[in-house]
Amino acid sequence: MPVTADGPQSGPGGEILLYSAGLDSFPAWHYLGRPRALYLDIGHHFRAQELASVRTLAVRCGIDLTVSDELDLSAWDTPQGDLIPARNLLLATLGALRADTIWCVGVKGDHAPDKSPEAFERMSVTLSELTQRPVRVDSPFWAWTKTEVVRWYVDAGLPVDDLLQTFSCLLPGDGFEHCGVCASCLRRWIALVNNGIEGRFAAPPWEWDLVHTYYMRAMRDGTYPEHRAEEFAAAMRTVGVTV
Ligand SMILES: [Zn+2]
Repeated sequence: MPVTADGPQSGPGGEILLYSAGLDSFPAWHYLGRPRALYLDIGHHFRAQELASVRTLAVRCGIDLTVSDELDLSAWDTPQGDLIPARNLLLATLGALRADTIWCVGVKGDHAPDKSPEAFERMSVTLSELTQRPVRVDSPFWAWTKTEVVRWYVDAGLPVDDLLQTFSCLLPGDGFEHCGVCASCLRRWIALVNNGIEGRFAAPPWEWDLVHTYYMRAMRDGTYPEHRAEEFAAAMRTVGVTV
């Protein structure tokens, strides 16, 4: 894969994509015109599986990729993959050492305190002040759901085989399998099946206990935004379940 110089010698400038070979960040790489990409290996428990997808897709697609272990957050990792508070601020800061525009991919409905249009705006202001340069942290997909991101990818005629090499699971098996029983797998399944794509999962996500004990009820009672509830219901209809 092509490699661009990384580190103080290259100096900041241009744009960079914070990349994890996920179902959002891989389409984003295409959508943004194939910018250089940065994978920060933070030492989380599914890093081996994620890194395998990162490297596989980099070779297959010719991604100009830097893999760096400069940010070790393994001390804060939990087996169930709880979000580390302000993690995206740390990632964006390391992106800002390399580029003026940092693409950190969030989608419509993302509302983590460190991943929202408002949070990224605050990061842009702060990082611009502290680096004395105009720095922009942004996502290309704030207006789209994950299902719509996949739809764009498919409509653009890009290879579905590549999309299935992306990785998005909090509890993967040793064989790099998507577990089918975690929140990331559920979101992945919904985005794929609503575009007529069959993902590979160790267990069927629609049969996951939490789908029936939690999500079905939450989607009905308005706990989730309407667009997410609609896409969940559409996905469940494909397996004969009415929400
Ligand atoms: Zn999973």
